[in-house]
Amino acid sequence: MPTTSALVADNVDDILSTIHDQFTLDSSTLFKITKAFLREVSDGLSNYGHAMAMIPTFVKGVPNGSETGTFLALDLGGTNLRVCEVTLHGDKTFSLRQQKFRVSETLKTGEVTTLFDYLADSVDAFLTESGSPTTAVPPSLTPNPSRDMVNPLEEEEDSPAVPLGLTFSFPVEQMALDSGILLTWTKGFSAKNAIGKDIVKLLQNAFDRKHMHVNCVALVNDTVGALLSRAYTSGGCILGAIFGTGTNGAYVESVANIKKFGDSNPAVALGGDMIVNTEWGGFNNSRTALPTTPYDNKLDRESINPRYQAFEKFISGMYLGEIARNVILSLIDAAPRPVLFGGRASDALNKQWGLDTAVLSEIEEAWVGLGRFAPLPGKEDEDEGTRLERVRGVVVQRLGFADSDVSIKDAEIVRKVCSLVADRAAWMSGCAIAAVLVQTGRAHLAEEGASENAAKLRDDGQRIGVGVDGSLVEFYPNFETKMRESLRILVGPEVESRVNIGMAKDGSGVGAALCALVAIKQQHSLQQ
Ligand code: BGC
Ligand code: MG
Repeated sequence: MPTTSALVADNVDDILSTIHDQFTLDSSTLFKITKAFLREVSDGLSNYGHAMAMIPTFVKGVPNGSETGTFLALDLGGTNLRVCEVTLHGDKTFSLRQQKFRVSETLKTGEVTTLFDYLADSVDAFLTESGSPTTAVPPSLTPNPSRDMVNPLEEEEDSPAVPLGLTFSFPVEQMALDSGILLTWTKGFSAKNAIGKDIVKLLQNAFDRKHMHVNCVALVNDTVGALLSRAYTSGGCILGAIFGTGTNGAYVESVANIKKFGDSNPAVALGGDMIVNTEWGGFNNSRTALPTTPYDNKLDRESINPRYQAFEKFISGMYLGEIARNVILSLIDAAPRPVLFGGRASDALNKQWGLDTAVLSEIEEAWVGLGRFAPLPGKEDEDEGTRLERVRGVVVQRLGFADSDVSIKDAEIVRKVCSLVADRAAWMSGCAIAAVLVQTGRAHLAEEGASENAAKLRDDGQRIGVGVDGSLVEFYPNFETKMRESLRILVGPEVESRVNIGMAKDGSGVGAALCALVAIKQQHSLQQ
């Protein structure tokens, strides 16, 4: 396998069809991926220490929409840091005020205490500016009804601290609702002296250093947030999944299946269900089941975490642009003659990470007629030339070429490359969803005769709720449609049609709020 991916062929069509074949998955590959996925699910539930970590979250149930209260939430994920104040109205609705803060590369890669000081400062800034801090305490627990205009950070020492839920979207092995140690960084973060540390303590120490009267009561992954918030707004949900900068899923598992707890864990005696954070971004780091191309190998080698997060590197927004850039460069460098841009690259294309996944999304939008998920009315009939001219415009602008450097043919090829990369991602995402349906007894792999066994399925005939969030699934045209294509192949059309995929809007904030509520209720009942 070549380490650089220069292509050699006499004929442009041969070159393009090679790439097409490398990125297109047949159904046997889909089944192979899904079966390997199920094996790693089972491994991760049986022992600690697997990359696909299958983390028990200590969240024992999902909400039903009747929950109430107002909470602070802090969300550190990939691209943004957000502080929000979430009010759950108890009728499946909520309101939310939020402020976003940028996380610089320096913060992502510097000392972890500096990062957490920044988190604390952001909460401080939010509370100072918002000026209505009462709201972070649920009404029933508010000790003093006249605290309305008081900044909690300046209150006397004996008043209760403002409770906060932290959404922290990295693999964290949880010991309880309010403690967990970081297993590894992902998505370009590498802050020093963090791995193995308790994330809640790191945050609490930062609050304490600044004498802030804020108490981190719950720690939650964004997938768990998506699951909880979708359950809250829709009344039922079994899987929360993120397809954004990174990818991951959390689902409702039976405690009896979490074999690694052993018999002595108190959770086992309680029985029932528990949400498990799969950390499926780390699925198949051995790559035995993943359809790896030289372009994927190049990306992996040059990443800050080679051989980790293998599945995520095929699927998520952090990486798709870079895979497409690798393919485009190999077409520029193709021998004996270039296939793209007359052999010239732009500055953006020459830089690692120089092609953002958002640009792939824009190219696809230009192609489908600027609609988010389908051609805009009236645009379906547009001729290909008009659509390609629009794509050409995006390529010139966003890849940084002179207008005369980009032909319609170039635009057409770039468009195809982008959709090959994105379609593969969506198809592979469908494998993860299918595996969760099989794991929870809601589907059989279609290959194994779904129809004969259909009577034995759990939730037979019912709608199956899946909450999703992330830039890819929200903005990439047709991502869900493509994901459903592979899901249908894997679990059959009947089950697929009952899967109700909905956006878990503001899932990280609402999920953290719901977890903070659970934590406070637990503390409260312990005090009685
Ligand atoms: C992290 C997960 C997270 C996912 C989506 C992955 O890189 O490991 O914890 O849920 O990104 O944000
Ligand atoms: Mg996020």
